[in-house]
Amino acid sequence: MDPDVRNKAWEELRSRVEGCQRCGLCRTRTKTVFGQGSVDTPLVFVGEGPGADEDASGVAFVGRAGQLLTKILSAGGIDRESVFICNVVKCRPPNNRTPTQEEMLMCGDFLEAQLLLLRPRIVVCLGNTPLKWLLKTTEGITALRGRWFDWRGIQLFPMFHPSYLLRNDSRVKGSPKDLTWQDVQQLKARLDELQKGE
Ligand code: SF4
Repeated sequence: MDPDVRNKAWEELRSRVEGCQRCGLCRTRTKTVFGQGSVDTPLVFVGEGPGADEDASGVAFVGRAGQLLTKILSAGGIDRESVFICNVVKCRPPNNRTPTQEEMLMCGDFLEAQLLLLRPRIVVCLGNTPLKWLLKTTEGITALRGRWFDWRGIQLFPMFHPSYLLRNDSRVKGSPKDLTWQDVQQLKARLDELQKGE
């Protein structure tokens, strides 16, 4: 896609999200959280929805979970500034509850449009919500993490959500943190392989 056309469509999408009142989450949000990072990236991370810090700032993954994600990426040799990070829903669900099917149905078009405009090589689903939404699967993250799937010609890789890792601090072999370390290494290796072939 012509970069000028893509950038124009991207800014239109951003302003549609900013003014969106499609679902009830618009009544309780402070700010919409469109996502941020590089738009020329081969790698996009998708979480569930904004938390309190994200709702207040309008920036995705800036709270404790976001800080942990930055550390995980950095340990795996991935610069957070070089990727794009967003969520399935762009407004905070009250008390950080899981978004409802209806909310995801209303907001899912925005995520889909983002992914189709960015056309990254890899989309990482962080946790169950983006995984189930994009893959339309009933299987959970524990069964599917660390494996490769296809979403409309884009490689899809599920990993644990960093907030799950905050609640499961053990680093013993086979723990969520240990598995995430393996996953981020696998992710970096695949990314390097794809970029070498370009
Ligand atoms: S969550 Fe999505 S669909 Fe609902 S109001 Fe916010 S931007 Fe619109």
